[in-house]
Amino acid sequence: MIRFLSKPWLLLSLAASLATSACSGSGDGVVLFSVDDDKALGTKVAAKTDSTYQASGQLLQRSANPQVYQLLDGVVNRVLNSGQLTYRNEFPWDVKIIKDDNIQNAFATPGGHIYVFTGLIKYLDNESQLAGVLGHEIAHADRRHTSKQLQQQYGISLLLSLVLGENPNQLVTIASELGQLKFSRDFEREADLYSVKYLNGTGYYACNGTAGFFEKAQKEGQTGGTPEFLSTHPDPGSRVEAINTEAQTEGCTGRTVDNTNFDKLKSLL
Ligand SMILES: [Zn+2]
Repeated sequence: MIRFLSKPWLLLSLAASLATSACSGSGDGVVLFSVDDDKALGTKVAAKTDSTYQASGQLLQRSANPQVYQLLDGVVNRVLNSGQLTYRNEFPWDVKIIKDDNIQNAFATPGGHIYVFTGLIKYLDNESQLAGVLGHEIAHADRRHTSKQLQQQYGISLLLSLVLGENPNQLVTIASELGQLKFSRDFEREADLYSVKYLNGTGYYACNGTAGFFEKAQKEGQTGGTPEFLSTHPDPGSRVEAINTEAQTEGCTGRTVDNTNFDKLKSLL
């Protein structure tokens, strides 16, 4: 069994972090985790997530649903190949569907494993909205928000004690929960803005697709039935505004996408 974090890594990256922290003015903060640690942590979180949903019979297998995954991969690959990701070739970027029509949500683990609930796909009106919400989740992984937030939330010293402690799985548990819980407001804002950049880079989707989802959710939320996604993504009104402003700046709002593939995907779920 391979331990996913080890002392040599830690001392090296801690030294590197301390060496660069004094002059770090990018707002990105110092990340103690290396990209390889993101990948290793992601592998563990994904394995845990897979086994949970396999046990309940909700994980849609690729082998049994080739057409569904072909259609979904088409959306995801456009976003991944937008030329705007930092870790396009480093992370595995696998996407999996969880069967639950009552949950309108999606999430990503560190290191690029994406999960989407059937309830979200069925809820959305068009492919640009789906690309937008998936782009938002992809941004959380590509911008390494889980690692940054773990560090901010728990502090370097507690994180070190978890990493060096007898139970490294504790960190996997924390990271798993974090993936489905709440990112800070700044990370949410950043993920929204990157969804615009990614969708613009596709040259295909209306790049304010995420705003379309928030608008729909906000409108329907007034009559009850608030999507799960909003519980971890509050304040839809100001987000719509920020996304649309960015989209106008980038000049990529007016694209319309034929819905044939998206309708087909919905009908197969
Ligand atoms: Zn988010």
